[in-house]
Amino acid sequence: MRFDARALLRPELATLEAYTPILPFEVLSQRLGLPADAIVKLDANENPYGPSPAALHALATYAFYHIYPDPQQNELRAALATYAGVPATHILPSHGADELLDYLCRLFLTPDDAIVDCPPTFGMYSFDAQLAGARTIEVWRTADYQIPVAAVEQAVLEAGGRVKLLFLTSPNNPSGTWLPDDDLLRLLALPVLVVLDEAYVEFADLPSRATWVLHHHNLVVLRTFSKAAGIAGLRLGYGICPAWLMDELWKFKQPYNVNVAAAVAGLASLQDPAYLRATVEKLKEERRRLYTLLADLPYLRAVPSQANFVLCRVHGRDARTLKLALEQQGILVRHYQKPGLENCIRISVGRPEQTDRVIAALQRL
Ligand SMILES: *Cc1c(COP(=O)(O)O)cnc(C)c1O
Repeated sequence: MRFDARALLRPELATLEAYTPILPFEVLSQRLGLPADAIVKLDANENPYGPSPAALHALATYAFYHIYPDPQQNELRAALATYAGVPATHILPSHGADELLDYLCRLFLTPDDAIVDCPPTFGMYSFDAQLAGARTIEVWRTADYQIPVAAVEQAVLEAGGRVKLLFLTSPNNPSGTWLPDDDLLRLLALPVLVVLDEAYVEFADLPSRATWVLHHHNLVVLRTFSKAAGIAGLRLGYGICPAWLMDELWKFKQPYNVNVAAAVAGLASLQDPAYLRATVEKLKEERRRLYTLLADLPYLRAVPSQANFVLCRVHGRDARTLKLALEQQGILVRHYQKPGLENCIRISVGRPEQTDRVIAALQRL
């Protein structure tokens, strides 16, 4: 008997839209007829310096790729405890921070529930909430990309217990803005789990709130090796969680969620803190230089950033045309045309010679 197998799908996922991936690097290099190393890739906030040489060496000499990973990642968690300043019992490594976003949504959300999202921000929060079947309540950031705390409080209240997760990002992507302590403290008083995404915190001039988890039972802090540690391709992140949530995540997580290569490279990166510190310092220094040079361009309005990228609003010309003109010269930046990000581009902080290339092109255009 024939039947429509498609009708077996979860109904709340019928409206799901496919993720639009950015063009793979190699494809673009081919299309532009430029060798890969001639392309200035400043569109995905990757770290141009890459991983510590110690991480590359550890990957090349590791002898146990045929053995399954340690499901508890004890060695990595001990090193992370030192790095993040919280006990290892509060740390859960993951297949990128993205995996934990998915875990948290599936652990907490049913189709009757909602999250509060504060756009413009990282797209994965609402994506994962939708995958879990839940609703996203949007509370828009102010014109200078701050969180309107009173509006978030009101949205949570009005939803009458339906909001379970509040996603906050500091520094925020794509604005680079910081969430002040006072605002975070007020939001932690709400009856929700606050997920603070610190993917870019190493680049900030202000300290991480990782240790706050020890004093706030409704706070989770997410971190990643993708940005500061330069191993985005290996997929390694971690959550810093209150004890009660760790218990649940241990039950919930895939046993082998962190692969051996990611764990080996992550551990070696943490054992070479001098490299990490030097790389971050170079990128912060370059952020200052990039920001100053961008601020001098009459048609760009750069937003001060605490991360490894600078968001610019484009005035008097079309941001998409600008992005495409840069692309023709082998320079990749991210373009936005959506609410709160009208006619904007975001430029990742690269090496000094990459800054010079993008600035020279922007001056000519
Ligand atoms: C890049 C990014 C992440 C993703 O981190 P992965 O560890 O690579 O999954 C998370 N949050 C924000 C805000 C990001 O920009």
